Amino acid sequence: MAKILCVLYDDPVTGYPKTYARDGLPQLERYPDGQTLPTPSAIDFTPGELLGSVSGELGLRTYLEGLGHELIVTSDKDGDDSVFDQHLPDAEIVISQPFFPAYLTAERIAKAPNLKLAVTAGIGSDHVDLDAAIDAGVTVAEVTFCNSISVAEHVVMMILSQVRNYLPSHQQVLDGGWNIADCVERSYDLEGMQVGTVAAGRIGLAVMRRLAPFDVGLHYYDKYRLPSEVEAELNLTHHESVQEMLPHLDVVTINAPLHPETRGLFDDELLSTMKRGAYLINTARALIVDRDAVVRALESGQLAGYAGDVWYPQPAPKDHPWRTMPYHGMTPHISGSSLSAQTRYAAGTREILESYFEGSPIRDEYLIVDGGELAGTGARSYTATAKS
Ligand code: NDP
Repeated sequence: MAKILCVLYDDPVTGYPKTYARDGLPQLERYPDGQTLPTPSAIDFTPGELLGSVSGELGLRTYLEGLGHELIVTSDKDGDDSVFDQHLPDAEIVISQPFFPAYLTAERIAKAPNLKLAVTAGIGSDHVDLDAAIDAGVTVAEVTFCNSISVAEHVVMMILSQVRNYLPSHQQVLDGGWNIADCVERSYDLEGMQVGTVAAGRIGLAVMRRLAPFDVGLHYYDKYRLPSEVEAELNLTHHESVQEMLPHLDVVTINAPLHPETRGLFDDELLSTMKRGAYLINTARALIVDRDAVVRALESGQLAGYAGDVWYPQPAPKDHPWRTMPYHGMTPHISGSSLSAQTRYAAGTREILESYFEGSPIRDEYLIVDGGELAGTGARSYTATAKS
């Protein structure tokens, strides 16, 4: 019998939903690159239900208890006395979502001698110390592509809301006002602007595809160049480095994983090379940017706006400076946890668990670490510190 320790965010303050805004979800057959959606043998939830909160349990309880395993679900994840830390020493599998991550530090991995598998119900496994997972022989897997389009939609929303000054204008309405000039003194059209992505993977490319009809100039930097037909189809300008690309851009969207190459990339120096009044959208990971440098750039006018949904740590403390900095459009970490995305990553988590318990290979595209090394998507998109 295995102990599965699952960290999920709290239920809504009004309680677990009894009804939903919509009846069901659109049926998707495949992801845009042809990859199949998750293929578990069965699911024990209704698509469109809230699955990422504690009572939703990712729809896993019936399946896991049916196999005789123990499932612990908690939102109490931080601090030595947390429920998470109490159960970690004999957990075989840890599951958490990037929106509310169970930080699997090297210290915690050292306290978990039975740990074999860390599943990210979502995308982005930087909350796991990958070097420590490699050393401890822990497999790390995530549900590649499950919410990439969800995030791309959020990025497009945030670009438009920043450039057009949507949020302050909405606030006018809430406040009972009608001062048009207050709303439009920072409002522009996106048309004709130069928009670039740092990384053109599943999210970055989807953002470019969605923005192409807006008649903007599209740019990208990625470690690997896209096929020439894709560049031609979207009229994409490829740049040799982030540093070379940034001075050309009015809008920058960050879509790379957090790993040693990207950590702290956007510091004061790099931000100073951007056009004055550029917008920076970061739904990738907070630590790719220097927290205080972003605040300084907004205050000085170097950045006209910053938006995103990723913070460090998560949950963000009440006094986090990004809550109160000027011209921001931050949300909590929600872009990849729409009800649509939850259905896919709950099913993908079940697929990974079925593979694990049946002893069959986990899909290569889901793997980040396996067999003591970066594997699958991890080997392509991440870097680890060389083993000592
Ligand atoms: P992909 O793996 O499809 O894309 C990541 C891309 O980043 C790859 O093309 C990779 O290049 C590229 N890359 C890696 N290192 C660098 C670098 N140093 N400079 C430039 N490009 C680099 O992942 P997704 O697009 O699905 O997701 C990207 C990230 O977005 C995730 O890692 C996660 O951190 C974040 N995310 C956020 C979510 C949210 O809710 N806010 C939800 C989902 C993801 P290559 O593969 O060619 O080496």
